Amino acid sequence: MIFLDAAATGPVRREAIEAMWPYLTGEFGNPSSHHGLGESAAAALRQAREGVGAVLGVLPGEIIFTAGGTEADNLAVKGIALARRAADPARRRVLVSAVEHPAVLESADYLARFHGFRVDIIPVDADGLVDPEVFASMLATSEPTALSSDVAVASVMYANNEVGTVQPVRQLAALARAAGVPFHTDAVQAAGWLPLDVKDLGVDALSISGHKIGAPKGVGALYLRSRVAAEPVVHGGGQERGSRSGTENVAFAVALATALELAEAHRAGAAERVAALRETFIAEVLDRVPGALLTGHRVQRLPSIASFCFPGTSGESVLLELERRSVICSSGSACAAGSDEASPVLTAMGLGTEVAQTAVRFSFPRDVTGEELSQAADAVVGSVAALGMLQPD
Ligand code: PLP
Repeated sequence: MIFLDAAATGPVRREAIEAMWPYLTGEFGNPSSHHGLGESAAAALRQAREGVGAVLGVLPGEIIFTAGGTEADNLAVKGIALARRAADPARRRVLVSAVEHPAVLESADYLARFHGFRVDIIPVDADGLVDPEVFASMLATSEPTALSSDVAVASVMYANNEVGTVQPVRQLAALARAAGVPFHTDAVQAAGWLPLDVKDLGVDALSISGHKIGAPKGVGALYLRSRVAAEPVVHGGGQERGSRSGTENVAFAVALATALELAEAHRAGAAERVAALRETFIAEVLDRVPGALLTGHRVQRLPSIASFCFPGTSGESVLLELERRSVICSSGSACAAGSDEASPVLTAMGLGTEVAQTAVRFSFPRDVTGEELSQAADAVVGSVAALGMLQPD
């Protein structure tokens, strides 16, 4: 099997399992307990927080462990918007890009439906990019007489999960800061591939997820700048400094820190190597499959994602043909898998629904080889041919 669906998930790294094992067994304490077992768990949690903070270049106290990327996104978008408006009732607007993950889009929609926010969708161009000028104009208040922006939070992802386009996050964050608007970025797909130095990015909040980088599913983290307030989404015993209640998942936090540190240590080398393989794969598919259309930005894209439309096919049938040839990938994002609906990401980029329904995403694990991608390219040619779209070469 050639697994090219790494943007959906991946296996847990052995190092992460070994690091978390003691906290699932002998060292099983509750970090809030005032005895040796609890203190040992609290120490492990502290160390994990320091580890994640160090990779992001932030204070450990600015890291909130969550049950995944979805929860981190929810806390950022809902939590910051609600806290900001509580402090300043004029802040009634939320800006999110058209290509965000549902975790961000649905959080914004919830704010509109239950809290009366106005949600403005930041458009993207044909490559999936947000235009900083358009963003700047949307940050400006809708009431020209007001002194400050009426936006409570803006959220634009670092890298897209379907087409891999990398947004100009530094520029967007600087514009938001100048307008006094808290800026969140979903870095779930960027982690392990792109620099995560928060000070350099200039963002106020950033989400990551464990299972995309070799930690288990069901753990993630939100970086929240110390001066930015967020109303909790999960209420209870006040863990995570009141930001996220619930007995901390010490073992998974340890696994997340271990996986993130390892991903960061090998990031530059992996990104360069895999980007070169991606280029060869893209060139081969475009060359050998007439009509194949690369989606996403040609160069400003994740090293790990090559996404295409194969007009005249259906994405789902290409997937089945590929799986028969032992190549595992997906038609857009895993969230939309199984549905034959056109991806909102692709339609936001201006593709017609018919073409968007033919999308196939190949996303590469860090250890992918050139040999595997060459076999995968053959399988793509064979699959599209089997569907009657071209003669095999
Ligand atoms: N954001 C992006 C860009 C993603 O790709 C994903 C997962 O596919 C998520 C958020 C959600 O993360 P999780 O699966 O940890 O909830």
